[in-house]
Amino acid sequence: MENIINLLPDNVANQIAAGEVVQRPASVVKELLENSIDAGATEIKLIVEDAGKGLIQVIDDGKGMSPTDIRMCLERHATSKIKNAEDLYYITTMGFRGEALASIVAVSEAEIKSKRADDELGNLVKVHASKVLKQEPCSGSKGTSISIKNLFYNIPARRKFLKKNSIENRHIIDQFERIALVHPDVKFQYYQEGEELFHLQNGTFRQRIVSIFGKNFNDRLVPVTESTDIVSVSGFICKPEYARKTRGEQYFFANNRFIKNHYLHHAVQHAFEELIPKGHHPTYFLKLDLEPSAMDINIHPTKTEIKFEDEKAVYAIIRSSVKKALGEHNITPSLDFNRETTFDDAVTGDAGIPGISVNPDYNPFDNTKKSSGLRKMDYSAVNPAYSTPVDHWESLLKNNPEEVQSHVDFEELENEFVQNTELVKSGEQDSNSTADEKIIQLHNRFIIIQIKSGMMLIDQQRAHERVLFERYLGQLAQGSGKAQQLVFPENIDLNPNDADLLKELMPQLRCMGFDIDDFGKNSFIVRGLPSDIVQPNCPEIIDGVLANYRQNDTELKLDARVNLSYSLAQKNAIKTGRKLDKIEMQMLIDELFACENPNYNPAGKKIIVSQSLEELLKGFE
Ligand code: ADP
Ligand code: MG
Repeated sequence: MENIINLLPDNVANQIAAGEVVQRPASVVKELLENSIDAGATEIKLIVEDAGKGLIQVIDDGKGMSPTDIRMCLERHATSKIKNAEDLYYITTMGFRGEALASIVAVSEAEIKSKRADDELGNLVKVHASKVLKQEPCSGSKGTSISIKNLFYNIPARRKFLKKNSIENRHIIDQFERIALVHPDVKFQYYQEGEELFHLQNGTFRQRIVSIFGKNFNDRLVPVTESTDIVSVSGFICKPEYARKTRGEQYFFANNRFIKNHYLHHAVQHAFEELIPKGHHPTYFLKLDLEPSAMDINIHPTKTEIKFEDEKAVYAIIRSSVKKALGEHNITPSLDFNRETTFDDAVTGDAGIPGISVNPDYNPFDNTKKSSGLRKMDYSAVNPAYSTPVDHWESLLKNNPEEVQSHVDFEELENEFVQNTELVKSGEQDSNSTADEKIIQLHNRFIIIQIKSGMMLIDQQRAHERVLFERYLGQLAQGSGKAQQLVFPENIDLNPNDADLLKELMPQLRCMGFDIDDFGKNSFIVRGLPSDIVQPNCPEIIDGVLANYRQNDTELKLDARVNLSYSLAQKNAIKTGRKLDKIEMQMLIDELFACENPNYNPAGKKIIVSQSLEELLKGFE
């Protein structure tokens, strides 16, 4: 019988390979831009016509190619970036597979012009569907220009499948942004149908984000930095209030390469838990730097899906660094206290945008500094709900420093409140207005506070939920909840479902100060309750906590410890509709600002709404 196996001709093999690398015009843009970056370019120009179906041209000022290399680069598996299998573990360039250009020129009409700095003349090559039509010397400046015309002209079926121009252009913009974002040291220009769509000067990562996504982003970005042996994380997250329902800007770069990774996305999402409503997505631009050998970028031709050697550790580090950054962001309310000049500025019409002031000396593991700003008060005289002194922060910090990664400048933040509290207590007055006048309750629901730059409205119930939640979470972590023994232990009978849940939660409840024993047959005996429970009605408390727990579990998908702390906080918090006196309000505010996250309640709802004088004045225009 005749043999039937043939080797495919190169141009056919290249066309097949092109199917993997070149899916659409945007893939060409990606490969050409990456090559320019690898060539050390400091300026890159991208020209796109007819959504990349007509022309994609990339011009760079990189190192250029020799006359031989300009031919070699068209061959499959031709690369200057690796030499042997060992090198695969130490990839520091964007490309290395040596197949992009071979694939692209197999399905287009290409023209490549290149000149090295020391060569007098450059070289020009014309290739149609892998066939070199001509090569000749040419003049020009240092660098490379590659034009790809009529993509897929020789594969009509592929060309037919391209989407309408607006969609293909969107894909190109996405690719451009992914590369331009993480190379802020390179100047980029992008022309679409003859118009300059992007003009990006070189600068910092922050400047690059702002120049791509708009000036609004400047206020939203919160820096993230963490350096460990396994991975260094840097970049920015957007403040939680800018989280969106639609998946917006979410960027991970591993060693300057844009990557998609659902697992790591979850790490960020997890860090934002409780701060953003369910179904919302945080915005982030995070760069991971790690040893090239600690990740495998070889698993997909477009190299956007990569594997990490120690993915779990990377996950944990990302999560904690984002949490830390979010903690630092919690100084936002303090801006209002510190922005003494804002009012003056507003009057002169020159209001500056408040920046995030992050203390560069902040060390989350240094507890001496942080506790110095905390005042211990015995609130029990004011309200039994406050019978635990505000030492939860300190104790959390001592026993669980990793958990508490927030940086709040307590001294400054509380300064104004300290004064107010002292004034309220002593009945003294401040020169302009009494402290009394600075805090008002509205509709038995909100607390209005006058601050230097304007005013703040605080939702009393959510605020107290936050305060108690953090306290309980701390007690849970340390098992430090104090029980108030009941004079007459109480028997409670539960339905089988609730009884099961209560048994499941029993160890945690004990940590929080519940003294409960299982009597069997869905019956329990309660001997003591957490000491800060205001109205110790056992069945009601237990029923309420279990009901909240179930609801939070289905609606918010909170983790068990978080859920339990929140459920008890909900049950025990001051409710909307309760009249508060001045001291109670002051105490509440005071405790709120000692929290790790004073801005949102544990369900991610806003606690504070602030209005600057400037905004108020606008309302009267
Ligand atoms: P890879 O990038 O994986 O090496 P490519 O097919 O994209 O493979 O490119 C092949 C080779 O062509 C590169 O290794 C590089 O040496 C050269 N090359 C491609 N584009 C440029 C450019 N813009 N400037 C200088 N050299 C380039
Ligand atoms: Mg390449």
